[in-house]
Amino acid sequence: MSTDVVRPVVSRDNSYFFEGTASRELRIQRCNACGVLRHPPGPACPNCGALDRGWVVAKGEGTVYSYVVHRAPQVPGKQLPLVIALLDLEEGVRMVAEVTGVPADGPDGLRIGERLVVDWNVIDDELTLPIWRRPEGERQ
Ligand SMILES: [Zn+2]
Repeated sequence: MSTDVVRPVVSRDNSYFFEGTASRELRIQRCNACGVLRHPPGPACPNCGALDRGWVVAKGEGTVYSYVVHRAPQVPGKQLPLVIALLDLEEGVRMVAEVTGVPADGPDGLRIGERLVVDWNVIDDELTLPIWRRPEGERQ
């Protein structure tokens, strides 16, 4: 492994997500029985209980519901401070999101309700993770 980043535990329930990020698709789990989207992934639909699950590709845009600035403790493979947001995706699910290119403090810091777009953090040949940033060409 080329870095000491904390690697996600890939299971039968979430492998679709990481197969998606490998091809730069942000996938959301979808119940094949009732069509409800859910995140984080799980084996059974919280709406109807069905185990038949698929996924859809998200547009890759969301708005900041909340966020934290992580200053300590150190996170392997990361430079602190880290800006971690809870994002409401346009598709209607909420996702924990690492944010890049945004100062941790000051007037240019992240704001509730701000719109972010997904980008890709290629860790190595085997792992690509979503990372979120402000849309290009937009000063808000
Ligand atoms: Zn369902």
